Amino acid sequence: MKNLPAHSGFDTICIHGGHTGEGHRAHLTPIYASSTYTFETADQAADIFSGKEDGFIYGRFGNPTIREAEEKIALLESHGITEEDGSPLRLRAILHSSGMAALSTLFFGTLHSGDAVLTHHSLYGGTAEMLERILPGLGIRHTIVDFHDPDAVKAALEADSGLRMMYIETPANPTLQCLDGAALTALGKEHGLLVCADNTFATPYLQQPFAWGADYVMHSTTKALNGHGTAVGGALIGRDDETFRADITKTHRLLGGNSNAFEAFLLTNGLRTLGLRMERHCDNAEKVAVFLEGHAAVARVNYPGLPGHPDHAVAAKTMRRFGGMLSFELASGYEGGKRFINALRLCTHAVSLGTTDTLVTHPASTTHVGVPREARLASGITDGLIRLSVGLENPEDLLADLTQALAGS
Ligand SMILES: *Cc1c(COP(=O)(O)O)cnc(C)c1O
Repeated sequence: MKNLPAHSGFDTICIHGGHTGEGHRAHLTPIYASSTYTFETADQAADIFSGKEDGFIYGRFGNPTIREAEEKIALLESHGITEEDGSPLRLRAILHSSGMAALSTLFFGTLHSGDAVLTHHSLYGGTAEMLERILPGLGIRHTIVDFHDPDAVKAALEADSGLRMMYIETPANPTLQCLDGAALTALGKEHGLLVCADNTFATPYLQQPFAWGADYVMHSTTKALNGHGTAVGGALIGRDDETFRADITKTHRLLGGNSNAFEAFLLTNGLRTLGLRMERHCDNAEKVAVFLEGHAAVARVNYPGLPGHPDHAVAAKTMRRFGGMLSFELASGYEGGKRFINALRLCTHAVSLGTTDTLVTHPASTTHVGVPREARLASGITDGLIRLSVGLENPEDLLADLTQALAGS
């Protein structure tokens, strides 16, 4: 591997981190389209199998293209963080076929029948459904408390001796609520829980849960880490220790949610500009949020960077900047939401987030159409709510598109 100077900056790691080079002096790590790896001798095979020698064995376990993306992500999540003795924190990442595959490895690799997960409202929909539909059949329960309320969290921790994991997602859909990850992690660790954070919205550029003391971080790399909308993927990151090398790695290999060389190549390419892109996502989102807040057709704007957002203070404390995601409520409700979407000319109407172009959704008529209205409203998804993943376009073009679409909404 390229030996990066100890104090390399975030962007330098985005570009060079994890790059090893290979025999033919290719500038970039090629797409290794090879399902298996050969051994020079029987002894070498034995050494690689036993872990004495580092080397690839079989495509489901990993390959050189995948390894580069994994190593880059591990370096970014640990960037600037030290252990108690001052040595740099050493993490490992395993790339998966999707964020949900990474989550499956996390849950199945750490939880057993009788265990319970402590978590909060407004989780990513797939995560909530995994907790509600898949885990109970295996004897794994979950408890939901308001993670904004430390007393409620303490009471829940004391009430249930079966709790094994605290699962945090911040910022979270759809109101961009933010949590005090450091304070929550401290509470969870005090009670002996494993603490895991979904860092998809923030990315390691804006927030590093390992600095709070978290045990695991998961990502949907489909979003800002890839950044260009070219591949679905996920990553599970943990300390480079025996548990990760044995239990977590074994679970990944046996569940079979492995990534592939082509999508790993696309991810590595996207990661190179993560820091630059996040700065521009934040710049643009700040401008869009201020613009929307001052617009007569908009009843409310949810952006943690606005001083009026209920979690502004906590976001300012936990994040470097406020991210590229926001949502807002059109005063004109459900039909107004649909009219607004139809009137957009530049912004793209699609789910997902963190891509170079601005993506827009109207949850009430799309992602949440199957959720009963009362339940939908209770989770903050009002009839006229619009979600924006603010892209990297010139901000004046974005504001012009929003202006003309709002005029008819
Ligand atoms: C998209 C997403 C996921 C799921 O990831 P996939 O790559 O779609 O499987 C999990 N958490 C968050 C916050 C997401 O946005």
